[in-house]
Amino acid sequence: MLGGYIGKILRVDLTERRISTEKLDAEIAKKFIGGKGLGAKILYDSLKLGTDPLSPENILIFASGPLTATLAPTSARWAVVTKSPLTNIFLDCQVGGYFGAAMKLAGFDCIIIEGKADSPVYLWVHDGNAEILKAGDLWGKGCFETEDTLKKRLGESAHVASIGPAGENLVRYACISVDKYRQAGRGGAGAVMGSKNLKAVAVRSASYKIEYADPEGFREAAKKALKVIRENSFIPLRRKYGTPIWVAPVNKAALLPTRNFRTGVFEKAENISGETMRDKIVVKDGTCYNCIIQCWKYTHVESGKYRVDELAGPEYESIALLGSDCGVGSIEAVAHASMLCDDLGLDTISTGNSIAFAMECYERGLLTAEDTDGLELKFGNADAEIEMVKKIAYRKGLGNLLAEGVQRASKKIGDGSERFAMHVKGLEIPGYDPRGAFGMALAYATSDRGACHQRAWTVRAEIEGKLEPRFSTKGRARFVKETQDERAMCFSLVLCDFAPLEVKHFVELLNKATGFNFTVEDYLKTGERIWNLTRLFNVREGITREDDTLPPRFMEEPLPEGVTKGQVVTKEMLDEMLDEYYALRGWDKNGVPTEEKLKELGLCS
Ligand code: SF4
Repeated sequence: MLGGYIGKILRVDLTERRISTEKLDAEIAKKFIGGKGLGAKILYDSLKLGTDPLSPENILIFASGPLTATLAPTSARWAVVTKSPLTNIFLDCQVGGYFGAAMKLAGFDCIIIEGKADSPVYLWVHDGNAEILKAGDLWGKGCFETEDTLKKRLGESAHVASIGPAGENLVRYACISVDKYRQAGRGGAGAVMGSKNLKAVAVRSASYKIEYADPEGFREAAKKALKVIRENSFIPLRRKYGTPIWVAPVNKAALLPTRNFRTGVFEKAENISGETMRDKIVVKDGTCYNCIIQCWKYTHVESGKYRVDELAGPEYESIALLGSDCGVGSIEAVAHASMLCDDLGLDTISTGNSIAFAMECYERGLLTAEDTDGLELKFGNADAEIEMVKKIAYRKGLGNLLAEGVQRASKKIGDGSERFAMHVKGLEIPGYDPRGAFGMALAYATSDRGACHQRAWTVRAEIEGKLEPRFSTKGRARFVKETQDERAMCFSLVLCDFAPLEVKHFVELLNKATGFNFTVEDYLKTGERIWNLTRLFNVREGITREDDTLPPRFMEEPLPEGVTKGQVVTKEMLDEMLDEYYALRGWDKNGVPTEEKLKELGLCS
């Protein structure tokens, strides 16, 4: 087998309660690497057009990559891949923690889960084997208790990926909580697990050793990468504050989602900043498997209605969406809401967004106290937000509608609410307003899983003046395209997107581990292949240029204050960027990859 890989895939059919193993195909590994790429290939080949994401026919893939669990720094990462019940298109989630490394060292590069169990079960993977076991006693429990119970039962060295009540109740943006505080957050992978009656997957690493094509060369490459990370000037800040370090600069740049994206400036931003969080509620730092960056911030709120016993978070995105976007200016309240989301198994971005949408509906009179069971669902009401989090997870009252996501909820509510339902392709917008960071407009519009910040995060380059002119679309199409291809590879290796490494470092690590002998061009071409494959999946599901768009609010309502005052991404601006982007990609005017491009990438014969 190739270096870096275990060489084995575990296939679990829950309907038939059948467990089998397969060899990882070396040619496929070379073309699609692992993680996102390998998952995309398996998903594309396995699913028929129009498969209901919540049916037994959908599959759930847990995929590591050739660098997962290796000496390469930040090698904790792995990917969850499935068809999203929120967007009905491709979904991959990148996850940290310890689970991915343990899965690989338990003897599998990848787990494919098919079918549906006839009663609640969990999967126990260990020592190159797997068992399907009863989980009736765990059904209904939160992710934290589920994990604690399974660790007691299976041993402390077990690592757990589980769903909470939200996943069981098929909330369309239910997450999978992993190692308690890491999540396969976006797009509803937790609901896919729930639809299969699969409460949890537990793994324990065994004595599997990862072989490298060039062991000495790999050790040297890993050492070099570690040195680059250690010497990077931003790492001490990331270590001290975690992702919340971005609250203050994004607010200063007037891009912080506030009150359902009505403005980019939050008057209470200081109360929820990374600095305030560190001062008030952070108790210690934490880290994923083999990572010196230590970006987890463990928090604790001793008492009161926002009590938090322990949480690694909230992260920047949770603060932006559960905080400023709902007008909530208390870091304790945001931490409490975030803890509830992790335990109940909800994506914080979509949850915050859905509540902010409902708050705007309430303030406009489209929802009344009768709809909210008497809750004063006004911006800034943290207690109402916290109640809504629970209602969504249990699909109670208005929570049942919001559990469908803002796209479906706005269609039901009508009365023009579609204009401020903040999503792309059904996936709610993350923590950066694209009016004034125009690269993000294109990144959201073209992301392969709907509005996502991770595929091409242009914000830093734009606010730090590395993409000039500041308020312009110039150069954004190329930047977004190249970043998407490069990130597609990072998410396939799988390494962490916070690792401040250059492409040459990734290439060297990959080559020394696997023996692939890629050039930088080969590497980026492989990323482009993976990106085109996810586009092919989405095109097959009916995605067209019309779907590569933004909520009307971003295209019609200029931001009202701060340095972005007056900025808007008009339809013409987006069209101009899309034309350039499609041309750079070798796609036609409708956003469909051309035959010539597919041939070049080895995606058709
Ligand atoms: S940077 Fe943070 S998220 Fe990434 S691997 Fe390290 S600890 Fe995990």
